[in-house]
Amino acid sequence: MSGPYLRMLPPSASPLRPADIAAGIRAWMSGQGAQSLRCEVKRKFGVRHVFFATSGRAGLSASLRAMRTLCPQRDEVLLPAFTSFSVPSAVVNAGLKVGLYDVSSRTLAPDMVSLEKALNSKTLCVVACHLFGYPLVLEPLRELCRVHGAFLLDDAAQAMGARAGTELAGTMGDAGLFSLSRGKNITAVDGGIVLTDREDLAEAFGAMPALFAASGRIRTARNLALALALMVMLHPRAYWLPASLPFLGIGRSVFDPDFRLESLDELRAGIGRSALDRLDDLNAARRRTAATLHAGLQGVPGMRVVQPAAGTVPVYLRLPLLPLSGVWPGGVAPQAQALGVVRSYPLALHRISGLAPFLTSVGDYPGASLLAANLLTLPTHGHVHGDDIRAIVRVFQDLPVKRCASVKEVAA
Ligand SMILES: *Cc1c(COP(=O)(O)O)cnc(C)c1O
Repeated sequence: MSGPYLRMLPPSASPLRPADIAAGIRAWMSGQGAQSLRCEVKRKFGVRHVFFATSGRAGLSASLRAMRTLCPQRDEVLLPAFTSFSVPSAVVNAGLKVGLYDVSSRTLAPDMVSLEKALNSKTLCVVACHLFGYPLVLEPLRELCRVHGAFLLDDAAQAMGARAGTELAGTMGDAGLFSLSRGKNITAVDGGIVLTDREDLAEAFGAMPALFAASGRIRTARNLALALALMVMLHPRAYWLPASLPFLGIGRSVFDPDFRLESLDELRAGIGRSALDRLDDLNAARRRTAATLHAGLQGVPGMRVVQPAAGTVPVYLRLPLLPLSGVWPGGVAPQAQALGVVRSYPLALHRISGLAPFLTSVGDYPGASLLAANLLTLPTHGHVHGDDIRAIVRVFQDLPVKRCASVKEVAA
């Protein structure tokens, strides 16, 4: 294709195929979508109980509500100070308070000193997030939670299929979460999956009727239209359209605790079931793209790729980069955005003004603040081709790092 056509890479895109949507429609007709998805998730992740919700945050809110019924005297949930704004939205939706712990800006792992300081007799649950598909090793955190009588929620919304040792992300806590939203490992436009091996939590889930109500035909038809639109619009040749419509709010981080708990409709369960069959291939492709990007960036001065923890197998939902000097020299070229090179969450959670009334205490979160200010992430999804990778690498080669260094050499 020649000429200045508007190729624009979405920062994250999980491919939806016509076959996925056809599977969704079949599930809608047969009413077997949720059951089939449940069996496959149980099999693939080796868990006893699987529940669905209309979104990841609804699944998270439902999990916390279930925990609260088992531990009504505790009302505080500890979150990493750097994560998706969906996470605090879910805590507040569940009527709970938010405590924060810091994360390492080097490894993205929980800062255990900060976490231990935040734990107290009111802590209902600690949420750990495997950001960008980099698995955390949760054994020490699990032990800490056990000692303090708090639940551990393994938020694998960005890490479906990732592994730490022999453990799969999503199965390392008392409950686990996957998201089927459009920027995740696989998508059904939206959706949340909760896993647990605990009978008491499963029972508490079963007592939430909103999660099991059949969904109306109008909602399903709307979801079908959304799925079709998403399939078309995430293509690099079409993405400029949704990206240029500000009211769609694409790529924006919003704190919004005001949502309803609803079931996952059969259509989206069917789409998710079909997409799940491709999870391993999609993750393998992301790993290859991440490895090629990483190799291209090797030796580019002034930056480093965040390294996964030893013994873990990441799924690289995105490839996170940090500037060595603390800030990007001269800023990053605006054309980088059209290549899907974007900042991550723009604020550490303690800086979200709408969340302030729900915070139990505020400390210093230097790791989270540094990540919010400086982390850049590169796309790894299936629309990223060789030319894109070379163009992305060039963005970083063109940063004025070397020139600064040579000026210093001249001065010396
Ligand atoms: C996406 C995400 C969720 C859930 O978000 P939904 O968009 O509601 O599906 C939860 N935690 C993390 C870390 C996420 O990235």
